[in-house]
Amino acid sequence: MNPMPIHDRPSPNHGPRPDGAAVDILVLHYTGMVSAQAALDRLCDEAAQVSAHYLVEEDGTVWRLVAEDRRAWHAGRGAWGHVRDVNSRSIGVEIVNPGHEFGYRPFPAAQMRAVTDLCRDILGRWPIPPGNVIAHSDMAPDRKRDPGELFDWQALARAGVGLWPRTGDGAHFGGPPAVETVVAPLLSRLGYDLDGVGVAQALTAFQRHWHPDALGKPADTETIRRLNDLIAQTDVANSTAGLAGSRE
Ligand SMILES: [Zn+2]
Repeated sequence: MNPMPIHDRPSPNHGPRPDGAAVDILVLHYTGMVSAQAALDRLCDEAAQVSAHYLVEEDGTVWRLVAEDRRAWHAGRGAWGHVRDVNSRSIGVEIVNPGHEFGYRPFPAAQMRAVTDLCRDILGRWPIPPGNVIAHSDMAPDRKRDPGELFDWQALARAGVGLWPRTGDGAHFGGPPAVETVVAPLLSRLGYDLDGVGVAQALTAFQRHWHPDALGKPADTETIRRLNDLIAQTDVANSTAGLAGSRE
């Protein structure tokens, strides 16, 4: 594995991982601040009580703030699947972007290359299933939007990081799906925690990640198709995970 250049900027904001906590989730964020420097300063400020393992600048520069075997404070309240203490079981990567609040803009190619390389390295070190490569908004749909609908999850999945729905086969599911009885159970199976989070909020988070062209629109048959396809991919990945041993 070619080591990518990583600069160290140690943050004091971390703690021990609980005994026996597996690292099996990768959470991607945007910084949502006006500059990379402002984000680095905040993530290393003891008073802020926040951090992440890595930060990736728009030019592709990568900073390591917290060692991967430590519990960084990036996820906060939320859940994915059965995991409610996401910090204990995850690696957090902050991707520099002003975010929806300060001028959300596309993620440059150099930054995407660095994020992809970094994520591939992380997946080589920890047994993180593809369905557990998630947005901060996936685990906290009621309060987070990052890294948002401009982030190229499809390209990332093509590079072997995370999941993307396969192309449709023209299957038809009839009219608009009933949100509570059809969409909600599928969102839940994929990993969204619907306790205390509205289905609409989870659906929006799903759209930001896996169906950005439909952001803000009602669920439709393509929504159901994508959900079912992602769940099928997750099930296959989980059923073969035990055979995989160490990942490349
Ligand atoms: Zn975040």
